[in-house]
Amino acid sequence: MPRKNHDQPEMRFATRAIHVGQEPEPATGAVTVPVYQTSTFAQAAPGVHKGYDYSRTDNPTRTALQKALASLESAAHCLAFSSGMGAATTAMLVFRKGDHVVSSRDLYGGTHRLFRRGFENFGITFSFVDTSELKEIERAMTRQTRLVWIESPTNPLLRITDIRAAARIAHSRGALCLVDNTFASPFFQRPLSLGADLVLHSTTKYIAGHADVVGGAICLNERSLYERLKFMQNAAGATPSPFDCFLTLRGLKTLALRMREHEKNATRVAQFLKDHPRVRRVHYPGQPDHPGHEIAASQMSGFSGMVSFEVKGGVSEARRVLSRFRLFKIAESLGGVESLVELPAVMTHASIPKEERKKTGLAEGLIRLSVGIEDAEDLLQDLKRALDRP
Ligand SMILES: *Cc1c(COP(=O)(O)O)cnc(C)c1O
Repeated sequence: MPRKNHDQPEMRFATRAIHVGQEPEPATGAVTVPVYQTSTFAQAAPGVHKGYDYSRTDNPTRTALQKALASLESAAHCLAFSSGMGAATTAMLVFRKGDHVVSSRDLYGGTHRLFRRGFENFGITFSFVDTSELKEIERAMTRQTRLVWIESPTNPLLRITDIRAAARIAHSRGALCLVDNTFASPFFQRPLSLGADLVLHSTTKYIAGHADVVGGAICLNERSLYERLKFMQNAAGATPSPFDCFLTLRGLKTLALRMREHEKNATRVAQFLKDHPRVRRVHYPGQPDHPGHEIAASQMSGFSGMVSFEVKGGVSEARRVLSRFRLFKIAESLGGVESLVELPAVMTHASIPKEERKKTGLAEGLIRLSVGIEDAEDLLQDLKRALDRP
């Protein structure tokens, strides 16, 4: 059993989001965790301090955020970073030349770019496969495989990988399993309890939730791996500022409330799209005919707020549709309270070569929605306006 790190284990998720790591500040009683905006800490004598000596290494506002996030992922440990990519880079720093990584083919574009243009130069090799097909993971494993890196649901096609089975395959070959849990958030999915070793987040998205801060995190249970990652967090220095930690803490207090609304609205949006004559395909794991629906239902407590779809008429029609939205803003990123729309092939996934996009089934005209928590009726009206021919 993973060791739970809740101050009070009887607390439920929504309560932990508000209280764990966020006790009133002892000196003044401040109810909100202060922004400890300091680079360094006075020492009583050389080497004698209260656990803080320099803010890259540790900062009290970051400590509060790390405790809260660890609790939400039911993890023993959490490390916070200045971005999701800072977390991903640091995670990769515990591997070495000659190591091999098996990864999802429809991976977040930035992660794909980091692997191919960054870590491949240092002699780490990567295989990109459709991890929703477990046989493909098995076939890609070599004697050098040290890590299976998956996203579920994936970005932008919302494909589902069986996390329990993927972790079992990784472990049977002595490899670790990392899950990028950004799309589900810990409210809907807790990969460590499904057998994964590491959970990665772009906290920029649902966790902070208000499109006002960029951040990342890694959560895990295993002590020695945590120590190695903590060493690298300090050594590489992709650490978040105290104010960024404050904003993320402020955001995550309402994570439970927001995720329920995101899911409710996304369910309505997906159904509306499915019934619309100008829509060719809808990808939403909450729909019973989605190929990963059953596995998603077995490992998630809800299907989150991301929906993607193809319109009839391909990329030029997709561009016309985007130009007609008023409420959905054309923007990268996701998971904020406001609804966003984008064209992955042109925007978030442009850094993935066209050939690879084709292999993953990412149509050039695919439209991705991050369904916000506005009134659902207003969102449906905006979609109708965008899709119906003027
Ligand atoms: C955004 C994102 C990242 C990268 O995070 P940043 O905070 O933008 O650096 C990684 N994985 C997924 C799934 C994402 O959506």
